[in-house]
Amino acid sequence: MRAAVFHHSYEPLKIEDVPVPSVGAHDVRIAIRTCSICHTDMQFIDQGMAPNMKPPLILGHEIAGIIEETGSEVKKFKSGDRVIVPAMISCNHCLACKTWNETHCENIRRIGVDCNGGFAEYITVPDFHPYHLPHEYSFEAGSLISNVLVGAYHLVYDRINIRAGEKVVIFGAGGFGLGILQMAKLRDAKVFMVDIFDWKLKEAKLLGADGILNSNKVNVCEEAVIDMLGEKPDIVIETIGAPRTLLQAMNTLKKGGRLVLAGITENALPFLIGRIIENEIALIGASGAPRRKIPEIIHLLEDGKITLEHLVTKRFDLDHINDAINTLRMGQTIRTMIYPFGLEKKKQQEKA
Ligand SMILES: [Zn+2]
Ligand SMILES: [Zn+2]
Repeated sequence: MRAAVFHHSYEPLKIEDVPVPSVGAHDVRIAIRTCSICHTDMQFIDQGMAPNMKPPLILGHEIAGIIEETGSEVKKFKSGDRVIVPAMISCNHCLACKTWNETHCENIRRIGVDCNGGFAEYITVPDFHPYHLPHEYSFEAGSLISNVLVGAYHLVYDRINIRAGEKVVIFGAGGFGLGILQMAKLRDAKVFMVDIFDWKLKEAKLLGADGILNSNKVNVCEEAVIDMLGEKPDIVIETIGAPRTLLQAMNTLKKGGRLVLAGITENALPFLIGRIIENEIALIGASGAPRRKIPEIIHLLEDGKITLEHLVTKRFDLDHINDAINTLRMGQTIRTMIYPFGLEKKKQQEKA
């Protein structure tokens, strides 16, 4: 099969022919229709971040597709089923998994980090892992649900439990930031977005942001944020992982507030530990996308409480994946979709 393979940081992905992954008795092989590009994929290429699986590695963890082959013991799926492939494979039997804390699974395998991912024509996963993608939703929707939306839900509901009326500032109006915005609005929070691109902030406004700020257009970002809110926020969520925005997030937060770190990075914190102690800051990490929350995301979509509009802004075939990654690098996209079987397939899917 064809795949975009990561060999080294600071080098483009290479399009190669690699073996189709084999199918064990309890596995399903999925023909990947869409896989969107996440900020994390770019961190491996641009920041020298090391994946757990030694390269060569196929990146990509926002996958939707069609079951193509099932193992001899598989009952839950048949070939032709449309599926969402959640970004993290938790084991289902450790204590964390049994107590519904699957993001703390001791045996977790992150797709495209600990094992091969979705920038390829096929992937094989255990049969307990995928979820049926309802017919009224596109594969692009499946890709967005698999990671960004379920991750945003996990952050807002499980990790920080945002309460009505709380003032929340989100740094980064990318796919994840806009997902968090929508979930936080469901909780009746006041949500303010900070980014460096006006066009992304406009999308944030359309999705219900109470205020937007372009931090490149003000002298001191922290002062401008506090001006916009009229006071310091209760919660600041940093989705970028850059030293500058991490520091701005810390400087903006009120005493006793929650600082949420959600942008994967290998950077160290750019402020002194004393500030966390003296200001009684709660430092909260949020990572991952518990797959058992996927049905809840589908309910929210069905009820019209959240939307997938405004999130997919670019589409590429596998051959042009490095151009696709560049759209993210240059801030030209919210989410860019890769079509491993080509964009022609997209047109056929729309007709069907
Ligand atoms: Zn991701
Ligand atoms: Zn587990």
